[in-house]
Order: sequence, then structure tokens, then C-alpha cells
Amino acid sequence: MTMQKRITIEPHDILAIEYECTHCKCRHSVRIDAFRQTQMKCPVCNEDWIRGEYNGPERTDQTLPQFARYLTKLQSVANGATIRLVIDSPTLELSREPNA
Ligand SMILES: [Zn+2]
Repeated sequence: MTMQKRITIEPHDILAIEYECTHCKCRHSVRIDAFRQTQMKCPVCNEDWIRGEYNGPERTDQTLPQFARYLTKLQSVANGATIRLVIDSPTLELSREPNA
């Protein structure tokens, strides 16, 4: 038997954006309502966290602040519908054990 669990979250469930350094594993979280600028480097080991374009219309350093602004706006715009984000979840394979 295969069971799939459907996990959803609503925009107001999202409180913060968290970075985890792939080099030293430190974590840094910023509330989305206070997110103003991207943390470009790890504050512990100085590893570059965000790479890419820093000038022009496709600035990668603006992607996370824009995402945080959209999430904050999403939390207040819907009043006639419930908006949910669907999270990918693993599919569980269940085997039937014979009754003992
Ligand atoms: Zn680090």
C-alpha cells in the first residue's frame, strides 16, 4: 500500500527565512516582516552565501527581500479564499505484516 501525506501551510504560518551555512552549519533566521536585506556572507566563517548578479534588474541580492515582501503581502490580501502552499512530502510504502 502506498500512502501520500499532503502537507500544506498558509502564508501566515511562515514566520522567518532561515539560512544554514553549508560550510560551518551555523544558522541565521530573520523574521519575514523585518527582512530588509540579504545576508551575503556567513557571520561565523565568512563563507559567501549568495552568489550571482548584483547589478541590473536581476539582482540576486534582492530576491530574498522581495520574497519576504510577497509573503508579508500574501498574509493580508486573501479574505474570500484560503491560500495554502503545498509542501512536497515523501511517499510512504507500507507493507502488510501478517497477523501474529
Ligand atoms: Zn559558516
